[in-house]
Amino acid sequence: NPELMEKIVSLCKRRGFIFQSSEIYGGLNSCWDYGPLGVELKRNVKNAWWQSVVYERDDMYGQDASILMHPQVWHASGHVEGFSDPLVDCKKCKHRFRQDHLEDSTKCPDCGGELTEARQFNLMFKTFLGPVEDSASIVFLRPETAQGIFVNFLNVATTMRSKIPFGIAQIGKAFRNEITPGNFTFRTREFEQMEIEFFVKPGTDDKWLDYWKEERFHWYVKYGIKQEKLRLRQHAADELAHYAKNCYDVEYEFPFGWSELEGIANRTDFDLSQHAKFSKKNLSYFDEQEKSRYIPYVIEPSAGADRSTLAFLVDAYDEEEERVVLRFHPYLAPIKVAVFPLMRKDGHPEKAREIERMLRPHFHTDYDEAGSIGKRYRRQDEIGTPYCITVDQQTFEDQSVTLRDRDSMEQIRIPISRLLPVLQERLNG
Ligand code: ATP
Repeated sequence: NPELMEKIVSLCKRRGFIFQSSEIYGGLNSCWDYGPLGVELKRNVKNAWWQSVVYERDDMYGQDASILMHPQVWHASGHVEGFSDPLVDCKKCKHRFRQDHLEDSTKCPDCGGELTEARQFNLMFKTFLGPVEDSASIVFLRPETAQGIFVNFLNVATTMRSKIPFGIAQIGKAFRNEITPGNFTFRTREFEQMEIEFFVKPGTDDKWLDYWKEERFHWYVKYGIKQEKLRLRQHAADELAHYAKNCYDVEYEFPFGWSELEGIANRTDFDLSQHAKFSKKNLSYFDEQEKSRYIPYVIEPSAGADRSTLAFLVDAYDEEEERVVLRFHPYLAPIKVAVFPLMRKDGHPEKAREIERMLRPHFHTDYDEAGSIGKRYRRQDEIGTPYCITVDQQTFEDQSVTLRDRDSMEQIRIPISRLLPVLQERLNG
């Protein structure tokens, strides 16, 4: 359904969720900027992830590694040699394609022309560290955040005195020079990942993979994605990355088809063994209970912050006869509550501002006095604000306001003194 995607892209632009990067210069292919509402939505998605994988657990630590790393990291991980996609060119129109994305790999999908043989194209961005541009100063923009966790495994284990099983979680930018970016923010060249490396004793890895695939699937459901639009898909043997023993993707049914939101892989001891070999450091772990030393196995749930934000957006989108509404989970909604004066006179604006000031320290709050009250409700529905409060004449008689619910559009009368606890209850659950 390409029309639905177009409507969502246009709403994102019109209402300040997502803009094209460098738009006044004609844009930069596949790069996007989050506007005032988009930045809130994406931040809430990242906070919801951090909340569930770090704060709600006693076996997980956070970290934030730098984007630039020692070049040896990418030799050890296999990225320099193997992080590439098969690229084909059309001999006629010169368009380029990722061969494994083509349905028919002999014909150009744009003009029907003949395609070249595939060549391997490495997806890592290169740059130089320092003022001298020679081969000794080449560094890479990380194509995944994961390696920043592996190289810190010992640091975290020692400083936190952590016992296996435990995990390290990280959110950060990653860069891939994708051959065919597209579908809005689904596939871009600069994006943000939310990754966990969960270190376990060899032999318990199958059990932990099962655990994490369920855990991660239910996170999307918890924050509002319709369960029938989500599925777990196990990788076929020929699809597995060279380091993986088994892998499941969490997929969402976008208007452009079922697509990956997150991969949950059993990376075995591949990464730590490689880093031990390349760095010549002992990265094994001494299990005091078992009195044995081993290199831990790793279960990696690797999610995209932009992809999941897009899934939450698409899934929340709903059209009714007279309104468009984003039915975000309250935790994810960019604005939680909007306050309106019914009229722009008779003390209504002053009273509404007073309520706005009372709520702001607790929730991201908006104030709006422009246009008819119906229009103001529609504007908030369209950006997914769960609650609207209106000050009217009766407010001055009995100190009450109306509280309107985004989904049911039901309005109740409520004393101002009860607003804060009622909203806290409804928004924070
Ligand atoms: P794909 O097959 O779609 O290229 P992948 O299997 O290479 O993705 P992983 O290497 O498993 O992706 O990366 C983990 C997660 O990072 C993905 O599930 C996705 O959410 C996110 N991600 C990867 N590449 C991109 C990209 N180009 N744009 C946005 N998000 C991405």
